[in-house]
Amino acid sequence: MHGPLDFNHREKPGTFVDLVNARIDDALTKANGEREPRSYLGGSRLGESCSRKLQYEFLKAPRDPGEEFSGKTLRIFAVGHIFEDLAVDWLIKAGYDLRTRNRDGDQFGFSVANGRVRGHIDGVIVAAPDGLAVPALWECKSANAKNWRDIVKRGVAVSKPVYAAQIALYQAYLGLTEHPAVFTAINKDTCELWHELVPFNGALAQACSDKAVRILQACDAEEWLPRVAGDPDHFECAWCPWKQRCWA
Ligand code: SF4
Repeated sequence: MHGPLDFNHREKPGTFVDLVNARIDDALTKANGEREPRSYLGGSRLGESCSRKLQYEFLKAPRDPGEEFSGKTLRIFAVGHIFEDLAVDWLIKAGYDLRTRNRDGDQFGFSVANGRVRGHIDGVIVAAPDGLAVPALWECKSANAKNWRDIVKRGVAVSKPVYAAQIALYQAYLGLTEHPAVFTAINKDTCELWHELVPFNGALAQACSDKAVRILQACDAEEWLPRVAGDPDHFECAWCPWKQRCWA
């Protein structure tokens, strides 16, 4: 006698799924570990509120045990890049002349302070079908539904000040200050799109540039800049991958 057919059979946890995912995660973390760590302060990071954290990044201080990038985090980064490529394609199909690479096929970017501060932009819109003032810096981020809705509700400057600082700094260093930047945010859960015009904020760009100088000077002098908080339980420290090192 045969029993009823089980069309809903599922592997028990800890078998096939875990084996395959462990292989993928191992491959991703290994490849990430073999990448040359960047030797400069990234312009996209200068809006970060904790200067000491930026020192750890610049000095390539090892993250705390267990705080290394996981396979899942690396997959999230990779998916973000794919979303960005899709947004480029969609905008070009919609008639925007969006340039993302120079003649050599490299991303547009800047390098200052003897190459110790650098950034790479997502693109520049040089012509538009709708009267958009050009050239305009274009920056794109993907976000989960909760974060995306917050960007839509409050605007990028309030919702994601690190992105706003990046935009201001890139506008300044790329000479794209005359017209507002275009910030595109993609909802990773629903594929809804948000586009926002971001006028140049010179004071913010200057503050980020000054911060970069302070960080480089402090690193050269082997000094630590003040922590962002006076308490390791502060929310920014709770998520910091250098928390143990910082507060030890
Ligand atoms: S633990 Fe807190 S103070 Fe220390 S580097 Fe991280 S965010 Fe800054």
